[in-house]
Amino acid sequence: MICKIPVPTPYDIGPVNSYLLKSRPYTLIDPGPETAEGREYLIRSLAGAGVRIEEIERIVLTHSHTDHCGLARWMAETAGAKVYVHEREIPKFGRDYDYLKERIPFLLEAGMPPKWIEKVSSIKNPLPRPELPEDGVVAVQGGEILDMEECSLQVLHLPGHSSGHICLYEREGQNLFSGDFLLKHISPNPLIEPVPENPRCRLESLRQYLDGLSILEKMAVRVVWPGHGENIDDCREAVSKAQKHHKDRLEVVLSVLDNKSMNTFQAMQVIYPQIKDFEVYLGVSEVLAHLDYLCKEGSAVCENREGVLYYRRNGAN
Ligand SMILES: [Zn+2]
Repeated sequence: MICKIPVPTPYDIGPVNSYLLKSRPYTLIDPGPETAEGREYLIRSLAGAGVRIEEIERIVLTHSHTDHCGLARWMAETAGAKVYVHEREIPKFGRDYDYLKERIPFLLEAGMPPKWIEKVSSIKNPLPRPELPEDGVVAVQGGEILDMEECSLQVLHLPGHSSGHICLYEREGQNLFSGDFLLKHISPNPLIEPVPENPRCRLESLRQYLDGLSILEKMAVRVVWPGHGENIDDCREAVSKAQKHHKDRLEVVLSVLDNKSMNTFQAMQVIYPQIKDFEVYLGVSEVLAHLDYLCKEGSAVCENREGVLYYRRNGAN
């Protein structure tokens, strides 16, 4: 009843997994990126599963990243399907939404040199900006149950990688569709995200992510169906691996502050000396999320020096 469709993407990460739940109303999780190749692959795969596009009645998006949801608008309009997406992701589909521009104040605060900000901003995304259809968008908040004839999906709001990231739990078969929240071989980046009600402040993305892992840890999950790569048979093991990854990373970030105070960009350069291109943004995001966490738990302290935040180990000079 679950068809896994690995739709190709132009990104290094490789295909994005789209999932067809073949129980009425037919539901598709993450249709994949807006490319001719992706579209053809999806149509062919659905046909292989004996389903015409017009039969899809519901599209659910785990988050707004373009590799997962670029085809949502086309598919919804072709099929007349409704698109379910978390309310916090909806503004990110706006025509004037500029992902990096919204984050520039945080990057400057992180000590990222303007020439690097310019460089990262000028890297062109090979995929077009995703759009939602004009009609038929259903905003979810988490907690909703999406019923089908033979099963149901519970919406779980699990932010950290994106503020409105959702996972879907199919209770009858104990299947978890994890989007980018839990992947087999990579740990998703806790990304910089402004607080919607107060855009000058950042969300505590790592704290949110770790809280989400604690929720998953207690759930009965038979199989995890991730947004990229192979399925995960042991959810608890994957959760504890992710928890350990961030615990180790917190120690690494803290050890960098042992001898001198640093801003996020400087710490990032020590931890990832080889990093380049768009990865610089991801590296800054990752280190900043860990620094925020360390400050909150009291292991590090932060000082604002002329608009740039410097960190040191608590107790060190
Ligand atoms: Zn992804």
